[in-house]
Amino acid sequence: MKAQVILQLVQLQDGFAADGGPDRRPSIRTRTREAVRLLAAQELNVDADRMRLSFDCRNCQRGNDGRHGQPQLLLDGAPAAARLSYARSGRWLLAALSFRPVLLGVDIEDAADDAFRPEDNIDAVMLTASERPLVEQAVDPRRLRAQLWTRKEAVLKSTGHGLRLSPDTIGVAGADGEPRLSSWPGEAGDRPGLQLLDLALTDAGAAVPPGLAAALAVGGSADPKITYREIVVVQG
Ligand SMILES: [Zn+2]
Repeated sequence: MKAQVILQLVQLQDGFAADGGPDRRPSIRTRTREAVRLLAAQELNVDADRMRLSFDCRNCQRGNDGRHGQPQLLLDGAPAAARLSYARSGRWLLAALSFRPVLLGVDIEDAADDAFRPEDNIDAVMLTASERPLVEQAVDPRRLRAQLWTRKEAVLKSTGHGLRLSPDTIGVAGADGEPRLSSWPGEAGDRPGLQLLDLALTDAGAAVPPGLAAALAVGGSADPKITYREIVVVQG
C-alpha cells in the first residue's frame, strides 16, 4: 500500500542559465511552484508536462483567481487523485503529498527569522493563554515559538482557512507542549479531526539549518504513515 503522506525537503539553489541575466530569472515563488510540480509528477509517475498546479482560495475576499490559496494538482487538466501542501522558508521547500483525500497541511519556518524575536512580540498575536507559559518556560523560547507557529499554519492550511482565523484562537499544544489540536474557535465550525506532528528536519542531513522548524497536519488515521524522501537540490 502507498504511504499515506510523502514528505520531501528541497534545497532551492541559484542556477543562472548561461543566457539569462538576473532580470530573466524567475522569481523564487515561480521556482518553488515549478519544483513542486516536478516533484508531484515524479511521485505520481506521470510526465511533468501533464501536471499543473492550480490554487483555490475558499471564501476569498479578493477574487478566487486560481493563483493563490490551497494548491491543487491537475493531471491533464482534471483534479489529480492526490492532495498537496507545501511551504518555503528561505531556500528550503517542504512538500507533502497524500494519495488519500484527507486534510493536509505543512509549514516550515526558521526560528532565526526576525519574526520570532521576543522584541517583535509575536506571542501576543499567536499564542493561546495556555501556550504562553510553555513559551515563557521553554529552554529555547524562540525555537518553540517557531514550532508552535508551524503547527498553527499547518492546521490552517489543511482546513483552507489560512490566516482568516487568528492564530491565537488555535491551540496546538497539549499540557506538556506536545503537538495536538487542543482548541479551535467555535465560529469556525466543528473542530477538524487532525493529527499534528512536529517534523525533525535536521535528521535529514547536516546541511539543514538547525533553526528550521516544521509541522504536518493530516486528517484521518491516528498513525499516519509518513515516508520521507531524500533531500533534493534543485537548480532554479
Ligand atoms: Zn483569496
